[in-house]
Amino acid sequence: MDGNAPDPKYWEKMRLVAEVLKAVEGPIYIATHVDPDGDAIGSSLGLYRALKALGKEAYWVADPPRFLRFLPKEEEYSDPVEKLPVGATLVALDSAEPSRVVGVPVEGFVINIDHHGTNPRFGHIAVVDPSKAATAQMVKDLIDLLGVEWTAEIATPVLTGILTDTGNFRFANTTPEVLRVAAELLGYGVKLAELTDRLQFRPPSYFRLMGKVLSTVAFHFGGLLVTAHLPEDAGAEEDSDDFVGLIRYVEGSVVSVFLRKREEGVKVSIRSRGGVSAQNIALKLGGGGHVPAAGATLKGLDLDQAYERVLEAVAEELRRAGYL
Ligand code: AMP
Ligand code: MN
Ligand code: MN
Repeated sequence: MDGNAPDPKYWEKMRLVAEVLKAVEGPIYIATHVDPDGDAIGSSLGLYRALKALGKEAYWVADPPRFLRFLPKEEEYSDPVEKLPVGATLVALDSAEPSRVVGVPVEGFVINIDHHGTNPRFGHIAVVDPSKAATAQMVKDLIDLLGVEWTAEIATPVLTGILTDTGNFRFANTTPEVLRVAAELLGYGVKLAELTDRLQFRPPSYFRLMGKVLSTVAFHFGGLLVTAHLPEDAGAEEDSDDFVGLIRYVEGSVVSVFLRKREEGVKVSIRSRGGVSAQNIALKLGGGGHVPAAGATLKGLDLDQAYERVLEAVAEELRRAGYL
């Protein structure tokens, strides 16, 4: 089976998820992936608010990064839990692997809602549809099925997930359907200009860091690949979320990779275009993701070793795609 194919039972399964969530009396835990992005936070906060509106006992276990912390109120997110109570339901959102779910153990009745082609379809109900632009787009359908009345408070995080995963409607996942859903969400009172402005705010340290990161830019394979990394003495790891989105616009490049050294290894963020699959490259490195945007963590390696592995994996994919 092609992991990137749409889920043929999408509506059937989503209806089942809605029925289960409406029927359960025990607590519902909502969690998302490590290093949460706008889709992770937006889809999970949107579903949390919808379930609270239904009067459910819901918990949103999350640690929003600084640039998204304006979305929730502090009392809305809960600390990590080691064990779920008996009878709990867990909704894992935007999480390509059970091991990427953060803050909760993957146990109880598990509902997996995601759009990563590499998702192994874990859980008791797995609605995984890589044809969706964002998990937030799937949560939009789920909230409709739950019959919750839309408000700006629910629509704003849901639209945030769609905005961030489509690069503000610039990526190929921006279908007419995505724009229709976004238009509908806007109609519920989302303040778009304020939201997109706020999503781009970064602290002064980010802009100083950008200078250091850009001084590491390097070109490989005649400019087909562009790389950059977080210098080891630069600090401020929290602000380094989007540098791959910057270097991917080097003219003539078809792959960009940003590397960050962490305690457990080196995290790599990969973006591609022109028939090259970031997903294939990530899979070779033990990670996963989407065809144009994927990632991996190279455990136990230092930066130099990680560069070596990345160059090998990219060369292999460039050969497959006919560039080398
Ligand atoms: P990032 O480079 O962290 O922005 O990730 C790009 C895309 O790949 C996102 O959709 C991530 O959820 C996904 N991704 C990143 N790292 C991994 C991994 N180790 N395994 C599976 N998916 C990943
Ligand atoms: Mn995500
Ligand atoms: Mn996503």
